[in-house]
Amino acid sequence: MKKIKIANSNKEFTVGKIVCVGRNYEAHAKELGNEIPTKPVVFIKPASSIIYSGEQIIYPEYSSEMHHEVELVLLIGKKIKNADEVQAEKAIIGYGVGLDMTLRDIQNKLKEKSHPWTIAKCFDTSAPLSGFISKKNYKLTLNEEISLSVNDIVKQKEHLNLMLFSPLQLVQYISSLMTLEEGDLIFTGTPSGVGKVKKGDKLYAKITGIAELSCTVI
Ligand code: ZN
Repeated sequence: MKKIKIANSNKEFTVGKIVCVGRNYEAHAKELGNEIPTKPVVFIKPASSIIYSGEQIIYPEYSSEMHHEVELVLLIGKKIKNADEVQAEKAIIGYGVGLDMTLRDIQNKLKEKSHPWTIAKCFDTSAPLSGFISKKNYKLTLNEEISLSVNDIVKQKEHLNLMLFSPLQLVQYISSLMTLEEGDLIFTGTPSGVGKVKKGDKLYAKITGIAELSCTVI
């Protein structure tokens, strides 16, 4: 089982499901040739795909195009279903930064066939996670900057306020589709600038004021 700890707290969460949102920044949707969605695009990653800062991302042998996607991650602390805005706000209890590592060559083939993205998104080590901070101690303004560097070169850098759907809107919408439970995580989508990584690359992800994360690709 994968666990999440919140800084300055003894409470530990066992991760349930990871709900991911695709195409939540206009420039990223366009860079991959996708339309701007009218509702969030939602998919799932298993908890088994999680690794932590300092650990290694293992490049699967069946892909030759693994991409980085840096994302704000929400930690859910309460069971909710069909949440309104107030319930959604209460259900979010922590923030972190994560990488939604994606096998783009595989995903493109799956998209062509209208197959699910599972093979492209759910492999072991595909969800590196930072530590989390408590929402009690931090007010998210969405003016925070999210960024990702590969070997010290900045590849993705954007403000969170360019999200098409806000964290609250995402939690509300997802809870209309499935029950969210304590320990669930929500990956809120990646800004533009996604690109290939190769073995030996050092990835560094950061959201100002919230969290940072380092991983090496092997
Ligand atoms: Zn993503």
